Amino acid sequence: MTESIEPAVGLPVASEAVEAARALGEDGARHRRDELVPIVRRANELYYVADAPELSDAEYDKLMRELVAIETAFPALVTPDSPTQRVGAAPSGTFGEVVHGRPMLSLGNVFDEDELRAFDQRVRRGLGLPPAPAPAPDLRYVAELKIDGLAISLRYERGRFVQGATRGDGTTGEDVTANLRTISVLPDRLREPATVEVRGEIFMPKAEFARINAEREEAGLQTYANPRNSGAGSLRQLDPRVTAARRLSSWCYQLVEDAAGGSEARPVVASQSEALARLATLGLPVNPDRAEGLDIDGVCRFLEEWREKRHELPYETDGVVVKVDRVDQQERLGMVARAPRWAIAYKFPPEQVETVLEDIVPYVGRTGTLTPVAHMRPAKVAGSTVARATLHSLDEVRRKDLRIGDWVVLQKAGDVIPEVVRSLPERRTGGEREFEMPATCPVCGTPVVRDEGAVRVYCPNPACPARLAQEFAHFAGRGGMDIEGAGWAVLEQLLARGLVKTRGDFYRLSVDDLASLDRFALKSAENLKRSIERSHRRPLARVLNSLGIPQVGEQTAIDLAGWIAERWPAEGMDPGEWTALVARSLPTVTPEEFQEVPGIGAVVAGSIARYFGTPETAAVLADLVDAGVVAEPPARRVAPGSGATGPLAGKTVVVTGTLAGYDRPAAEEAIRAAGGRAAGSVSRSTSYVVAGENAGSKLAKAAELGVPVLDEEAFRRLLAGEAP
Ligand code: NAD
Repeated sequence: MTESIEPAVGLPVASEAVEAARALGEDGARHRRDELVPIVRRANELYYVADAPELSDAEYDKLMRELVAIETAFPALVTPDSPTQRVGAAPSGTFGEVVHGRPMLSLGNVFDEDELRAFDQRVRRGLGLPPAPAPAPDLRYVAELKIDGLAISLRYERGRFVQGATRGDGTTGEDVTANLRTISVLPDRLREPATVEVRGEIFMPKAEFARINAEREEAGLQTYANPRNSGAGSLRQLDPRVTAARRLSSWCYQLVEDAAGGSEARPVVASQSEALARLATLGLPVNPDRAEGLDIDGVCRFLEEWREKRHELPYETDGVVVKVDRVDQQERLGMVARAPRWAIAYKFPPEQVETVLEDIVPYVGRTGTLTPVAHMRPAKVAGSTVARATLHSLDEVRRKDLRIGDWVVLQKAGDVIPEVVRSLPERRTGGEREFEMPATCPVCGTPVVRDEGAVRVYCPNPACPARLAQEFAHFAGRGGMDIEGAGWAVLEQLLARGLVKTRGDFYRLSVDDLASLDRFALKSAENLKRSIERSHRRPLARVLNSLGIPQVGEQTAIDLAGWIAERWPAEGMDPGEWTALVARSLPTVTPEEFQEVPGIGAVVAGSIARYFGTPETAAVLADLVDAGVVAEPPARRVAPGSGATGPLAGKTVVVTGTLAGYDRPAAEEAIRAAGGRAAGSVSRSTSYVVAGENAGSKLAKAAELGVPVLDEEAFRRLLAGEAP
């Protein structure tokens, strides 16, 4: 049996992996950790913030396990900001923030039955029970399917749905109340007037995923990688109407608080199985495919039962969550860094098939990097047919010893991103060929450049059509200016016809220009024009991210935006003028100064300074300012526990009706900048309701609950730190 130890970092890890890490020696381990951490961080950003991962879950899990093994072997290498110590990613800044009353945790993972049995042994040890195979009738597990979706927390007050939030970084999530209201399986009113906090998963059914992707492809929009990402992307939309159009669904699986109609929040259940029953009684959706009262053998039978059957379910599951049933036992076991000790996620192994690697074709990316892509004989794996998979780099092609003509093993790693696992050299016939990177760019013919060590091969021509198309796709994409409707098909035409030569040109397009595109009726041209206009104003972090600064991902862009807003305060300035000021000032910042940005080291700081220092970048920024792009300053971050600063620290404010001096986003931004929380609905925890013209039901609700109501003048005084 795999011996499993619970290390300082709190995630279970096989002792062999720890031995392997130890064999690296402390310096070697530090070096490997320094390689792994940025890769894992970037994967987290892409997965949690952009909802667009590049790694498969299996690849990610492997990297994460290696990191855990290193930190377990050398606890001195654990830093508080290590990905092993954190859950998810910080809220994106796009939504209001919700500080969770109790942290929303992740789960430790196990990948086979031995590891699962090792979990059982740890639980027994923790509870002072005899080790298996001795019977332990007092220890019972609940097995639930692990839904591959997005964790959410729902709050009902006196039976009414009042607030919903994403997990975020576990302590602070995003306020997605308005979007959650559009999900029909989540009731607006419970069957009894209970005040409860409930956790669950939002997911997109497979059929809906297929429908949306087909629609998006047709519309020339980028397709989603898998139901998890499309579900998360659909929920984390600024416009609840978009969420409403996506038919998301939900299963609830945790009862955090239950005041059962009383005023004091308290749990009223003694076990997870009772909690699930109570959730169902309240009218919340609870997955019927679960088993209760199990010992570890029963859990293993449950896994077997679902290994194949899960493909028949209308939604994606990537494993089984095993939970100690009794709440008193859960409390005794407690939690470690980012996961409870009383629960574990068993992940189903990825399905694998064999197929022929017919060709390896280099694709030119945004930064000019040539990426080899496997073209395979189409093969069916985990429910769909796969013909292409990225091979990431020449290095990987060599490491996996892949040759054109080889038989290869292909998998989809529990999700939908295909991955070539390895070649099958025993099936070679002698006609296979080694892949070589071309000497010239396959798109523009410019001689390619090899970076030191020859890992990265790239086309150095900044005007290479392949590069420009990707750069502009990134600019207009969801992590950037998010121009809905400006997908590949549209972009290619805009570039080919010379309608877009610079990023600013997007904002100079007329409806007539757009209507001249193939298969574009006036209506779609008007729609696209509207979405371009909507994208004029974006949070600074998004604008920074849209630029594609080398080595800067979404998280770094957020950190950078925070630093910029502190250095050049936006208070009292017109946002357009502030944008222009920032654009003019960035080229003057030195690499040393960029190192002041939290989380940015010398290498990234150097890369950012180099990027902003070039005349080409100055021209890009001037063009965007000229085109009227406005970067909104970020809300001042409120670190949980650290105590928010500003006149509205600790206050929750709801704005309703029309204000003369602020549109809704500006009012909410002002609240956040003053340290407060902008909420969408009125509850007893609301500190103030700011009512403008035509305020409706929220005003009535405020009166009903006795929440103070302010007019715009009083709101201004409040923001200025005066008595309202
Ligand atoms: P996790 O998904 O492994 O497990 C924790 C989550 O499971 C909980 O937060 C909850 O949302 C969910 N869950 C689903 N059904 C549940 C149930 N019945 N009971 C309790 N919880 C349930 O952990 P995570 O921290 O959310 O994410 C880590 C995982 O995400 C990785 O293992 C990897 O698979 C994936 N990931 C992938 C990438 C990538 O680049 N591909 C990047 C980051 C994370």
